[in-house]
Amino acid sequence: MCCSKTGRWVSRLLDPRSRSASIVVSRVDLETVVALRRAAVLVPGCRGRGPVVRRSAGSRRSTTQECPVSGGFSGDFKEQVRSQTDLVALIGETVSLTPRGGGGEHVGLCPFHDDHSPSMHVYPERQTYRCWVCDEGGDCFSWVMRIENVEFREALEQLAERANLEMPRRRQTSGPDRDERSRLYDVLSWAEEQFHQCLVTDAEATRARAYLSEQRRLSPEIAARFRVGFHPPVWDWLQQRASGRFTNSELEAAGLVKQRQDGSGLRDDFVDRVVFPIHDPRGRTVAFGGRILPDHSYADAPKYLNSSESPVFSKKSLLYGLDLSRGGIRREKAAVVVEGYTDCVTAHQYGLDHVVGTLGTALTDEHVTRLKRLAERVVLVYDGDQAGQMAAERALPRFLAQDVDLRVLTLPEGLDPAEFLERHGETAFRQLADDAPEAWEFKYQGAVSRIGSATVDARQRLLSEMLELIVLAPRLAGTAREALILGRLSQRLGLSEPDLRNELQQQRRRRSDGAVQRVDPGTRSMGTSDQPSGAGSKKASGPSAGRVELAEQELLEILLSTPESISRIHEQVRPDELRHAALQELLATCYRIHEEGEVPTFARVSSVLEDPEMKSLAVKIDEQARLKGTSQRVADPELDLIEETVQVLKWRREQENYESDRGLWSERSEASGRLDDEDKARLKRAFEHHQKRMQRKVVR
Ligand SMILES: [Zn+2]
Repeated sequence: MCCSKTGRWVSRLLDPRSRSASIVVSRVDLETVVALRRAAVLVPGCRGRGPVVRRSAGSRRSTTQECPVSGGFSGDFKEQVRSQTDLVALIGETVSLTPRGGGGEHVGLCPFHDDHSPSMHVYPERQTYRCWVCDEGGDCFSWVMRIENVEFREALEQLAERANLEMPRRRQTSGPDRDERSRLYDVLSWAEEQFHQCLVTDAEATRARAYLSEQRRLSPEIAARFRVGFHPPVWDWLQQRASGRFTNSELEAAGLVKQRQDGSGLRDDFVDRVVFPIHDPRGRTVAFGGRILPDHSYADAPKYLNSSESPVFSKKSLLYGLDLSRGGIRREKAAVVVEGYTDCVTAHQYGLDHVVGTLGTALTDEHVTRLKRLAERVVLVYDGDQAGQMAAERALPRFLAQDVDLRVLTLPEGLDPAEFLERHGETAFRQLADDAPEAWEFKYQGAVSRIGSATVDARQRLLSEMLELIVLAPRLAGTAREALILGRLSQRLGLSEPDLRNELQQQRRRRSDGAVQRVDPGTRSMGTSDQPSGAGSKKASGPSAGRVELAEQELLEILLSTPESISRIHEQVRPDELRHAALQELLATCYRIHEEGEVPTFARVSSVLEDPEMKSLAVKIDEQARLKGTSQRVADPELDLIEETVQVLKWRREQENYESDRGLWSERSEASGRLDDEDKARLKRAFEHHQKRMQRKVVR
């Protein structure tokens, strides 16, 4: 890219009118990354022989089908599950994917590093995904293991359930943790059903139905969609219903009953409350929120009550209604976040199905990370009262650096979202959400309305407040986003950009010089420094330097792209001849499959491997093989790639033997003062052989 072009990109970037600026930059970044990656892959591996041909879509399928699906191998069920999982649909539930090229390939923002351009590639034909930047890759199992943070067994179960396949029985019993969790899910889902049926049919729920329809103006349909329920004003209502089905301690573990304060036993927890079940992104019930009926007769009862945190429920990562909003968020390319479940349900009733709710916490980085995988824009809605305004201001610094178009909306007239919708309707709400100011602009407007902007003194204070906000977001430093904000600030305040930067530098210095260096809690979980970066991380990655190391990797590339070559390689190379431990393990796995009388196709190998890092390595090798056109190169008789690669490894083995022999002989000759003739002859032969090999390599 030439300089004048770069200049244009930058000026577009800084142009406040250019909404698409970030997208433009992303595309450039990706192309650069891809080009660099390709170059890095091609130079050492291909040595200029033959073009790089991406394997055509169909060529793989025939190989996969050759692989027998029956037999006693434990990979069978895994393969069945994998082949019936639509990887694009699965990943698409978490990451917004767009098709790229004609071969069914999709790209999206990688959820495993702080991705600013779509680096995650999904290859449906191979049933694999891989990130070009952080090297994370694998198949449907590794995806679920990483995203849901579960063990292989649970990932297999989830995907089997998704594919409508029944898990084969295992002799081993599953672990206590898993049993406990699945029991918890059972209790919670059973309780949801009890509450909901009560609300819909029971005479005891008349007051609750009246409250929902008259005061909340919620229709029975929307209550059914969100599975809203009611707990009647009876202290052991749920315990009675659970008897014979769940124990009291199971109810307690699920947060449905509590010990009475006077020690006289247990009492139900959501008594006389309208109950809103809280679901995880997969739609499983994990907790409840309860709103007490306004005409209740209990002193000091809190208006809202949430289940406490449990092994299946974490407030700071969960968003209410996300299971029902995912489609809407993707369609609108925007997510609207309200505080609490009643506003969320009301918004959905008005057709705003891209609205989610936080659960009695401020929006966290985890929330934003989750949302930005699905949406380009996130709108935070705060009540128009004083408390809402303050909550919005507090949330600002931690989101300023988030690479997402973050807007802040405070509703007029001190209304909450439900009240606003009732009074002004859906269209007016959408309009407000569309026009909501960006986070920094929101701060600016707030400051101007407090301080004013007419006098020099007011401008000085404005400047100082705005820079303070930027300083509080350390990850913003040096980013294009920071440049953008400074550019707009300079227009508003009538200050030159260099002056503004100067001032910012000073403010940063003052802050870092401060005796107590505060740590912004918002920066902890999202920092890029603790993300896997490939080079520095301990994960298994292919060898990168040296011809012999390359040959090790090439050997696996050959195996995965042309598994028929296994016999030839198996005869000549032992796994322990490879230096790279992960490659060694991969080769041993291929041999094991071969010894079972099967062909180690990529699909087979991948389903035998359970360790996500090993899978990631297999995907990486497989992808490099395709980029290098390894299968075509193997088929080229003039090249004889297999022989070539095996010879490189043999050469190293001989060289090592030669060196250790030489060491041995020199020890012996030092000890005895001389070598016998037989030793001399052997040394000479080894030396000549070694020389010949060296020359052969040089000539080639
Ligand atoms: Zn990544």
